[in-house]
Amino acid sequence: MAATEFAQRRERLCSQFAEWKIDAFLVSSLVNVRYLTGFTGSSALLLLGPRRTLLLTDGRYATQVRQEADCPSRIIRGSNYKAIPAILKRWRIRYLGIEAADLTVESHMYLAAESGPATALIPVSGAVEHLRRVKSASEIELIRAAVQLTSDAFAKAIRRIKPGIREKELAAEIDFQMLRGGADKPAFETIVAFGSHSALPHARPTANSLQSNELLLIDMGSQRQGYASDMTRVAHVGAPSPKIRRLYRAVLDSQLAALDAVRPGVTAHAVDRAARSTLRTHGLDKLFLHSTGHGLGLYIHEPPRLGRKETAVLEAGMAITIEPGAYQEGLGGVRIEDTVLVTATGCEVLTPTSKELIVL
Ligand code: ZN
Ligand code: ZN
Repeated sequence: MAATEFAQRRERLCSQFAEWKIDAFLVSSLVNVRYLTGFTGSSALLLLGPRRTLLLTDGRYATQVRQEADCPSRIIRGSNYKAIPAILKRWRIRYLGIEAADLTVESHMYLAAESGPATALIPVSGAVEHLRRVKSASEIELIRAAVQLTSDAFAKAIRRIKPGIREKELAAEIDFQMLRGGADKPAFETIVAFGSHSALPHARPTANSLQSNELLLIDMGSQRQGYASDMTRVAHVGAPSPKIRRLYRAVLDSQLAALDAVRPGVTAHAVDRAARSTLRTHGLDKLFLHSTGHGLGLYIHEPPRLGRKETAVLEAGMAITIEPGAYQEGLGGVRIEDTVLVTATGCEVLTPTSKELIVL
């Protein structure tokens, strides 16, 4: 990523200081620090003023911060927060924006007590997250690569599926293939669910072993160079019954209808409605237990959420998932999930893996 990209992101934030009535902003969320500076260490605070920027970290990251961050940094002994009050005083900061969703009560109490009446702490919500919704060209390339890695790992892992394999074993195989393919880590805990267990949308892998004539659901994603991907596919061991074929067809229709609805200017709930109303025509909307999708990027779940009541408007450059499902207790669940890019005219499905029901 070009270093200037980080500086541009910080400038965009600073340009909103007047609106938020602040004269500096303390970024405590590590993922937001990464987004604004390139620094990936596990200890960091970023102080953004309109004319200066300072990144604080500890001695373990002295080398890494020089290599990664594009802005001035300082190595702090002990807690990064301890250094803040003196800097606020030196910079004459009267109104300090803080990340309301991230700063702990304890750190807030410390900063309030130590900086005294000279500096007011002003909670700001979702500022960096708002910037992060629309991805730059370089971020889109990273997401594309994470998506490809996930599909490659899936193709390798499904060759290992045979009756008797345990959910946990298959999940471990998937994770291994993602790491071997170059992932930083799985983007979330890999879901592998066999048979009726797949009727739980967020099933945790167990010691259950795969039987013949049952469904299996895999929801997996890799994080690569910080960026996430997300995919769900369903397979069946042996020839699927007409009931299962119907369930699969309905979810696939629903996913295609939702994809068809994705374009700039459309509200998130309209995409959700497209998925839900298609399932209704199959009489299955009551079995759809979650929202249609979510944004993804540095986090696996980030705004916008594509749910029933979500009023966010889609914009070109957003990376989202489309993942309707239907879950029938006793029988099993089907979910089909792709990672998708909102483009100027519609969307591009980034996930290359086929959506035909896989028969093993
Ligand atoms: Zn998923
Ligand atoms: Zn997802």
